[in-house]
Amino acid sequence: MDVLRTRREVRAALARRPRPEGLVPTLGALHDGHRSLIRRALTENATIVVWIFVNPRQFGAADLAAYPRDEAADLAMCEAEGVDIVFAPPIEEVYPEGFDTSVRVGALTERLEGASRPGHFEGVTTVVATFFGIVSPDRAYFGEKDAQQLRVVRRMVADLAMPVEIVACPTVRDADGLACSSRNVLLTPDERAAAAILYRALSAGREAWLGGERSADRLRAIVRDTLASEPLADVDYVSCADDDTLAELTTVEGPALLSLAVRFGSVRLIDNVSLD
Ligand code: AMP
Repeated sequence: MDVLRTRREVRAALARRPRPEGLVPTLGALHDGHRSLIRRALTENATIVVWIFVNPRQFGAADLAAYPRDEAADLAMCEAEGVDIVFAPPIEEVYPEGFDTSVRVGALTERLEGASRPGHFEGVTTVVATFFGIVSPDRAYFGEKDAQQLRVVRRMVADLAMPVEIVACPTVRDADGLACSSRNVLLTPDERAAAAILYRALSAGREAWLGGERSADRLRAIVRDTLASEPLADVDYVSCADDDTLAELTTVEGPALLSLAVRFGSVRLIDNVSLD
């Protein structure tokens, strides 16, 4: 496995490797969710690149400082899974002096995570477009856990006619239903136990929808009521939105996304289930 730090090195290494090339973009602190993306990519491509880069442009300052990092463990997981190249550049290699371009997707980025984290998606699309330019993947793998990110990246790729296929991978969960996330290690033991409420709340909403409930207000209320039973859960938003546009719904008539963002102490977690 090559562990590479510069644009030039990674391009030279890729020129020697067979295609198709699959890219798994990550912020590091790898877990079973990332592992599932890597495994899917391995089945579909001749060369696998995992990018590990904590992108300052998509974080607020406090969040960036707190973000967990463990490069040695990340490299060990990649090696064990059979990854060909890990690209883990320093900041100045991604954003060299004079870097002055930004990629911004429109309305889709103004809702949900975009409303709670101004500038977040512009940071995401700018770094994803930059990495696509550096490594020219045939396919790139993204998790449904970050449902809005997946839609934003798809929008960018379609609008800018980028020659890459975006592959969506299902959310991997711990035994109690909590979605695997790098941030879970920041939870105290009490918060970690309490965080199981997220999937229970989403599942309660989904059960109601399966039972025929079509009022989006009612579905949001069912999720909120379940969350209210957990004193450590501090709700940022609960959404029942159109699956495509992520606009909030009144009535669920077609595919929809039930999603939430909730804080436990200083740790903000997101999750979603599909109503489809
Ligand atoms: P991150 O390092 O958190 O930016 O995640 C990198 C990629 O892994 C993103 O496409 C995420 O959506 C995906 N991912 C994160 N957590 C999970 C999970 N629990 N299941 C599936 N994919 C995930």
